[in-house]
Formats: sequence, C-alpha cells, structure tokens
Amino acid sequence: MDKILVVGAGFMGSGIAQVSAQSGYQVYLMDIQPAITDRALRDIRWSVEKLEAKGLLREPSQKVLARISPVKDLSKASEVDWVIEAALEEEDLKRSIFQELDRISRPETPLATNTSSIPITRLAENVKRPERVLGLHFFGPVPLMGLVEVVKGEKTSPKIFERGVTFVQSLGKTPVRVQRDIPGFVMNRIFSAAFREAVDLVDQGIVSAEDVDVGMRLGYGWNAGPFEIADNAGLDTFVRVAQTMRALGAAHLAPSSNLIERMMVEGRLGRKAGKGFYRYSPEGKRLPWENK
Ligand code: NAD
Repeated sequence: MDKILVVGAGFMGSGIAQVSAQSGYQVYLMDIQPAITDRALRDIRWSVEKLEAKGLLREPSQKVLARISPVKDLSKASEVDWVIEAALEEEDLKRSIFQELDRISRPETPLATNTSSIPITRLAENVKRPERVLGLHFFGPVPLMGLVEVVKGEKTSPKIFERGVTFVQSLGKTPVRVQRDIPGFVMNRIFSAAFREAVDLVDQGIVSAEDVDVGMRLGYGWNAGPFEIADNAGLDTFVRVAQTMRALGAAHLAPSSNLIERMMVEGRLGRKAGKGFYRYSPEGKRLPWENK
C-alpha cells in the first residue's frame, strides 16, 4: 500500500487525507498544532461515516479511518511515496517546509504543494532535486470537488508531472494540466478576475454580496456565487492570494479595494469563523448578513 504524508491538517489537508485514505493509501497527517490534527480526525470521521450512511463508501468506515495516523513532525517523509504540503499560504513557511522535506525524504519521492497561488518554481528553489517538486492544487471541500490542477514548475520533470496526473486519477479526481508555472495557475486566475470585480462592486455599494451570488447562480449557472466560495475557502487564504498576485506581476487579478483585508482584521474569515460575507449558525447553517 502506498503511503502519503500530508503536511497541514486544516480545511484542505484534512480533505486530502480523507480522499487519500478512501482511495486505499496509508496516510500520515501532520500539523504544527496537534489540536488541529485532532479536530481534522474528528471531522474526517464525521464525513466518512456520513458517506457510509448514504451508501457511498466502498468499505466499512472503520477501515478507511484506520489508514490515517496523526504525526507530530515531518520524520515520516523518509518512508512515504508522496508528500503533499497543505500548510498556510505563506511563501517563507512553505519554503522552509520544503527545505526540511528535501533533507528527510528519499531523493525520488515526489513533493507536491497545494498552494493556491505561489509559483512552484519559487517553492522548489532550495530543494536539491527540484525536478521532483510539483503543484497538486486541490479544490475545497476536497471530498466533494472533483478537480485538481497539476502544475509543472520550471524544473519539474515530465515523469513527475505525469505521475502527478496518475496519482490525482487514483484519488478519483480529474486532473487539469497546467504546463507553465504562473502565479495563481489557471483556475484561480480566472476566478480571481471575477472575484476582484465582485469585491470592488460590493465595496462601492453598487450591489450586495448576496445579490452577486444569486446573480452568478441564476445568470451564469455557477453552483455557488463568488462570495459563497470565498466564505467556504476562508478569507485569510484569499487575502494571501491577492498579496501574491500583487507581488508577482498579476495585480490586475487582485481587488482594488481592501474590503477583504478589513474583514480579516474584524475576524470575518468566512464559514470557519462563523462570519464572513454571510453569518453562520453554530451548526453551520448560512444566515443572510444583517446589514446587507
Ligand atoms: P488552513 O488554515 O485551514 O490550514 C492550514 C494549516 O497549516 C493550519 O492548520 C496550520 O496549523 C498548519 N500549519 C502552519 N504551519 C505549519 C507547519 N510548519 N507544518 C505543518 N502545518 C502547519 O488553510 P487551508 O484552507 O487548508 O489552506 C492550506 C493550503 O491550501 C494553502 O496553501 C491554501 O492556499 C491552499 N488551498 C486552499 C483552498 C481553500 O479553499 N481554502 C483551496 C485550494 C488550495
């Protein structure tokens, strides 16, 4: 059975660990905060048991859950077949994680990052064999979303890139190949163009966030509007993506207004904080924002 180390057990890391275990991989799940790993294990149990109750799991939930082991550091990198990094969207942090992974892991092990926006080439700069670093950009919530962008860094070898494609397929996901490494890759650049305009229109008082979401659902057939997507993903990630876009020559894809930065200061981070563009009940039910 192939083994995977997932680094970061937040929203994305826990989802990646879950789908990997559901697909038969042995998973080690690591976070700098053990309490977050504990929470991830509880969330995964809840999700897997729900799938089982609906008849959507191929085997008993206990078997899936038994494949996930929490770990406190990166040492398991030495024995796994894949590493997937899903820590916070901060370049310096990710660079230092990759440097440590480079030291610990076997030289042939592919090292993947789930970054939303930071070029793979930059994260691979301090890795001795950068040809084994690639982007596997999952979409959240991972158990529900079928897409993964497979991103080729300047030095990613064609062999590792194709292994990434096959690995994504083994998880039951559909890969989109991104052949050149640009900030935000493809899907986040296209989304960011819409989100930038949506944020600016809301901040200018032209339209409410809720009406934009209704409009994009009914007018363009989106399954969720941009502000629903942002709340689900977490506005802190969106702020960091906008910072990367501004810093790396794609400022046209970042909002002109600082609305999401102001919301972040107020703790309105989205669903995980109980408030963002919308408010959420303690059970996670969405409520319309009071002062819309
Ligand atoms: P999150 O805040 O839920 O989780 C990040 C986790 O990283 C936290 O639990 C934190 O404790 C942990 N962490 C911080 N430093 C660490 C370290 N040194 N070692 C191990 N863990 C560490 O964030 P998230 O939404 O899960 O995003 C994770 C990554 O996935 C980011 O790069 C983000 O851009 C990307 N991403 C997010 C989404 C989304 O919808 N939220 C979608 C695609 C990609």
